[in-house]
Amino acid sequence: MGTFEDVTPHVSCDLRLNRYIELIAYYDDVTGLPNRNFLNEKIRERIEESKKENTKFWMIFIEVSNFGYINKIFGHAVGDEFLKSIAMEIKKFLPKEWIFSRFGGDEFVVVTTDVEKASVVQIVENLVERFSRSWSVMGKWLYTNINIGIAGYPQDGTEADTILQNAEIALTMAKKRGKDMGKSLYEFYERSMTEEILRRVEIESEILKGIQNKQFFLVYQPKVSRDGRTVVGFEALLRWNSQKGILTPDKFIQIAEESGLVYELNRLILDIVCRDVKYIKENGFKKIPVAINLSGKEFAMYNMVGILSKYLEKHNVTSEDIEIEVTERVILNNLELSKEIFNKLYEKGIKISIDDFGTGYSSLELLLTLPIHALKIDKKFISRIEFFGNEYVIVKNIIYMAKEMNLKTIAEGVERKEQYEILKELGCDEFQGYYFSKPMRIEEIAELKKQDETPKIR
Ligand code: C2E
Ligand code: CA
Ligand code: CA
Repeated sequence: MGTFEDVTPHVSCDLRLNRYIELIAYYDDVTGLPNRNFLNEKIRERIEESKKENTKFWMIFIEVSNFGYINKIFGHAVGDEFLKSIAMEIKKFLPKEWIFSRFGGDEFVVVTTDVEKASVVQIVENLVERFSRSWSVMGKWLYTNINIGIAGYPQDGTEADTILQNAEIALTMAKKRGKDMGKSLYEFYERSMTEEILRRVEIESEILKGIQNKQFFLVYQPKVSRDGRTVVGFEALLRWNSQKGILTPDKFIQIAEESGLVYELNRLILDIVCRDVKYIKENGFKKIPVAINLSGKEFAMYNMVGILSKYLEKHNVTSEDIEIEVTERVILNNLELSKEIFNKLYEKGIKISIDDFGTGYSSLELLLTLPIHALKIDKKFISRIEFFGNEYVIVKNIIYMAKEMNLKTIAEGVERKEQYEILKELGCDEFQGYYFSKPMRIEEIAELKKQDETPKIR
């Protein structure tokens, strides 16, 4: 028995289906670019080829910086459109023979042909330059940075995974450097980057463990009045009792900031400070405020004032009991938000000092627009004040200006008697430094307690 059937329509249908399957398997539906599967196969082919012919190639990892943000604010339709136009724009800069693929989310990967490093440099430089301007997508002007990491076959790896991973490491470094400068950047992979990344990952996980195991604590450095003895305030300084011993913030704050762990850390600091403030108040320092240092990200933290209020309430501490110290750099990085936060703090009755005054951008305009209570003159100037050079001139004029503007001045890092005397002569209001006292443990503060109403330290 047999049946006759014309199979032509099925064949062409199968062909179309195959083509369709290939499309969804190998191409990205948003941008129409080859996807990760396609890329992986091509890389494998390219490696085989290069091995045989003894040639080289480069892998260029590109990340679009604020895609997530654009998606969230403008919705996915604009997000997709944005990605498509970015992809098209990048493509314009690349030779046709290079493979250009969407790797995932906001990431693209380019695989070059056998070209010299100089050709790659030229192209990525043009790309970086192009992405320093804003875009118009669906009637909205958007601004984006891209960051680029590059690794080459064979010097940075002979397996697809290794080269890709190393390009990604280079990208991470470019991002880190770009964030500091707020611009698009590229980096070529170097071996030292891997070590750096591993070190960071290790510190990050140690910080996290440290938070969980309560290894962070605060020490308190007194601020004294013009008589050089009366304690008029404390500054809380963070310490980490880590496996490597007790570490100061310069060893870990930056990494905490970059990894986002600083939010976690900040809540912990606020909790400890408020708890300690209560203890300090109960141990002879009733009316003495404790200053808290806030770094960039913490300061710009969403609802910073609300979080602070929560901890004040929790420990039954009032807003006169604490002060905030921020650097000019932090403020200028985000002037609008800073203004908002400053005003909220001011309304709550929390005083704010500008830390390291004179070392940042020294934008004096800040003094006009923000409700500032005090200027802390940086120790860099104090350390050379007794030579009566330019440092002396700067300090003298900061104090003069502050007086005229009704701002308090605090000299930090006073280490010698002569420095204190000169500063006092110039009219500085408060002093802080090893000459008076090093930062103290909370238990030591209790010992300072005297019968006297106002405890003295010298
Ligand atoms: P800063 O706010 O300028 O703090 C003053 C630093 O100078 C402190 O170092 C203090 O121990 C040190 N110091 C005080 N007196 C003298 C002196 O007479 N001579 C010298 N050479 N140094 C003196 P520390 O504790 O290592 O803190 C370094 C920086 O880390 C601080 O600078 C502050 O910006 C940041 N920091 C400290 N605690 C915290 C915190 O809780 N959160 C955040 N975000 N940053 C913090
Ligand atoms: Ca400070
Ligand atoms: Ca300072």
